[in-house]
Amino acid sequence: MFSADLIDENVWLGNIDASENKLALDALSITHILTVLDYEPSFGPDKKRIIKYVKADDMEQFDLLSEFDSCYEFIDNAVKNNFKVLIHCHAGMSRSATIAAMYLMKKYNLTHHEAIRRLSERRRCVSPNDGFLSQLQLFYHMNYRLDKTHSLYREFQLERLRMDYIDYDPTVQAEEKQTTLKKFRDYFPINKEKQSLTEVEYKCKKCRTILFTDKDLVYHRPGSGKFDWFTKMSSYKQKQNELDAAKTDTNVCQQELFTSYLDWLLDVFSANDGDIECLKCKTKVGRYSLVGEKCTCAKWVSPAFHFHRGKIDQHQARNNDLEKLLLQRTPQQNHTITVVEKPLEVDIIQRTEVNEDINTNSAI
Ligand SMILES: [Zn+2]
Ligand SMILES: [Zn+2]
Repeated sequence: MFSADLIDENVWLGNIDASENKLALDALSITHILTVLDYEPSFGPDKKRIIKYVKADDMEQFDLLSEFDSCYEFIDNAVKNNFKVLIHCHAGMSRSATIAAMYLMKKYNLTHHEAIRRLSERRRCVSPNDGFLSQLQLFYHMNYRLDKTHSLYREFQLERLRMDYIDYDPTVQAEEKQTTLKKFRDYFPINKEKQSLTEVEYKCKKCRTILFTDKDLVYHRPGSGKFDWFTKMSSYKQKQNELDAAKTDTNVCQQELFTSYLDWLLDVFSANDGDIECLKCKTKVGRYSLVGEKCTCAKWVSPAFHFHRGKIDQHQARNNDLEKLLLQRTPQQNHTITVVEKPLEVDIIQRTEVNEDINTNSAI
């Protein structure tokens, strides 16, 4: 049955029947079709319309995010030239609704909640799966563009790797797993900008090689239960809890050093878990487990890149201009946490900065 709704000026969201109903398309003057399906439908000869096909499964771990930029461009180009666009998948509920929400978010600077609410007012059945909702949220945190250097993007891809590598198909051969891992390098370009923002460096105690920085640390609340990216991103409430935790120093576990995925770590992956050796002197400095590991506070961290405090030295970064950093903050901000617009990591990082200041001051 034909089902499509006008969700914004010149933009329709509908199901597969809508995309096949040429009479209706003509009547609505729709000239552009964005198809988001797991197979390419054959529309037959239709010289009137321009079709963009995006191959996508309606599965939580499917990476629709990587298609956002090209989809936005397709819709935006058509709309700017006064053409009418139909975005559709099978039911017009999850995949195409995600693309439509992304379009509204970027066009009107909306959060994913606002975009979904606006969509639902115009098409009641809109219901992206949880994975897609997380990707929309991530898109918001990346300022409406694909930013491969964003730490949450790396966590997102790492979570997908983890699912592919471990959960998805246990019968996958070791060789195929290695191919998956190699493919994964593309998702993790080296973040050169990061260096200039670094405040604390963590070095191998033995050979003094810098292994990671404060920007790579991941934090969790102490206690039982699971901490992973999917839970963190897919549940708004959970995210709020993590933020609340970051606001109060005593609520963030200080016991162990866990990092997010590091650029040089792919070289050490050979199985689901194993030792992390220093990239230079090969001393054992930690352990990793894609499945996860229990922190001494009892929290399950997944995936876990765990460095042993006894093997790591902590230093103020050389490029740290303390004066400049202090100037950036008002006195009131020095020992409190500022809630900024997109605070997911910023809060946590500021908390660390405050700690380091205290340490430095007391050392003087
Ligand atoms: Zn070393
Ligand atoms: Zn802990």
